[in-house]
Amino acid sequence: MNKQQKLESSFYYPIPRTLHYCTQCGKELARIIPPDDNRVRDACPHCGAVHYQNPRCVVGLVPIWEDQVLLCRRAIEPQYNKWTLPAGFMELGETTAQGAVREADEEAGAQLELGSLYTIIDVPHAEQVHFFYLAKVLSPQLNPGNETLEAQFFTFDAIPWADIAFQTVATTLQYLVEDFPKQHFPLRNYAILPNQAEHS
Ligand SMILES: [Zn+2]
Repeated sequence: MNKQQKLESSFYYPIPRTLHYCTQCGKELARIIPPDDNRVRDACPHCGAVHYQNPRCVVGLVPIWEDQVLLCRRAIEPQYNKWTLPAGFMELGETTAQGAVREADEEAGAQLELGSLYTIIDVPHAEQVHFFYLAKVLSPQLNPGNETLEAQFFTFDAIPWADIAFQTVATTLQYLVEDFPKQHFPLRNYAILPNQAEHS
């Protein structure tokens, strides 16, 4: 990856996601509370468009092969070179499950059988909700894409905890380690708050 391609992660995920120009008419926006609303929005005084912003969905998989979990080492920012479960932003027009399978295909090239939804994690300070599905890996043959430096299976005692990319991935893996011996995987729904994220 050359210098020109390597941009700050804040370039990709600007927070706050304030818009400056109207995507409908191109004119400058105002920050106002629209009539009958209760929070500040980017609104267009020229064409009347109100640009609502809502949390983004991140969808991913927990791919399991026998007693091992598949992790990918990231070839992209943010968290370049760190290990993650295959996951990414949900695209328009797909379901959470379809998005999770697509991401696993793009990042690991694994043959998978989709399982049940496992974690739903609110990350309000990042303006995201993360969904991870369990998945059975059908063949150890992998074909990682260009967002991944390498894809590798880890036994649970070899998970590289210090080099996990995201708190949502780390907590999902912690639940997996807890639940796997019992082969009972209840749906986990929790939030990660900013003070927790700082320690990630
Ligand atoms: Zn406008």
